[in-house]
Amino acid sequence: MMKFFLKTGTGLVITAVVLFCGLPMPAVSAQTDESGPITGITLSSQEAVNGSLLLLQIETDKLSPPVRDMRLTFQQREYPVYPHPGKPAGNYFGLIPIPFRAAPGPTALVLAWANAAGEHRRKISFRIVAGKYKTDELKVDSSRVNPNKKSIERAQKEARKIKRIYAGGNIERLWEGDFQLPMTSDITSPFGNKRVFNGQLKSFHNGVDFRARTANPVFAANSGVVKLAENLFYSGNAVVIDHGTGIFTIYAHLSRIDVTAGQQIEKGQRLGLTGATGRVSGPHLHWGVKINGVAVNPMQLIEVMSSLLPVHG
Ligand SMILES: [Zn+2]
Repeated sequence: MMKFFLKTGTGLVITAVVLFCGLPMPAVSAQTDESGPITGITLSSQEAVNGSLLLLQIETDKLSPPVRDMRLTFQQREYPVYPHPGKPAGNYFGLIPIPFRAAPGPTALVLAWANAAGEHRRKISFRIVAGKYKTDELKVDSSRVNPNKKSIERAQKEARKIKRIYAGGNIERLWEGDFQLPMTSDITSPFGNKRVFNGQLKSFHNGVDFRARTANPVFAANSGVVKLAENLFYSGNAVVIDHGTGIFTIYAHLSRIDVTAGQQIEKGQRLGLTGATGRVSGPHLHWGVKINGVAVNPMQLIEVMSSLLPVHG
C-alpha cells in the first residue's frame, strides 16, 4: 500500500483527491498514524505554478491532547504554522512559497507535529507546473545594467540588509482580513516575465508593475510594520512592510516616501507617491511580495489569503 502511494503517479492523484474530500488521510509514510489529532488538511491547489503561493489549512481534533511544534517542510526549508484567523482554536494555516526556479513535477511537503504520543509526520503530495511566463525587453540607463564597482558594492550591501529583514520577520500576525492592491491601475508587466535589459537577460520579474504617472498615491496592502523606507540602487525609493507570519510587501520606484522604518501601518495607509527612481524605463509602481524571503506572485497573495476570511451568513 505504502509503495503504491510513493511510487506511482496515480497514487499521488488519489492522495490529493482524498485530501480534498475531507476524508481521513491514508498512511503515506512510516511515521504517520491514522488515528492522529489532525482531522482535516486542505491545500489551496494540487497544481502549483512556479512562483505561486500555496496555503495549507489544518484542522485538529478538539478531543485529542493538544498538538505541539507543528511545522511544514518543503524542499529542505521549514515553514511555521500559525493559528487560523477565521476559525476557532485548533485550526491552523501555513504558507508555502513555490520558488520561481522550482523544477516542475510531482513533489510533496511534510507536516510534522508532536503530542503526548510522540512525533508525527504526514506527507502531502502535489505537483509543480511550469508557469506560462513571457519575456520583457527593456531599455534602461546602461549604468543600471552594467553598474560600476561602487554601485555593485552598494547594491550588494543593500541586498544583504534586505535579506536580514526577511529573515527577522514578526512571527505574530500583524495583518487583518484581506490583502488589497496598492493602487487601482492597469498592470503593465505581470509577475514572472523574463527581464531582458538592453538585450541582456538579467532576471525574472519578481513583482507586478502598475501603470502610473509620477505622483499617484500608493497604499499599504494590509497592516504591519515598516522595515525599510529608503533609496536603493535598483528599487529606487522603496518601502518594505512586514505583515507578520512570514509575509512582506515591497513598494518600489517611488518619487516620495511618506513613512519611516519602525512605523506601524494600517491597511490602506498612504506610503508615498509613484515615481521613476532606481532601475526603470519610466514611472510605474513595482509591487512585490515575499513569503519567508521567497518572491511569489503578489496577485496570488490576494487570492490565497481571501480564503482565510471567516465565512459570514
Ligand atoms: Zn517591476
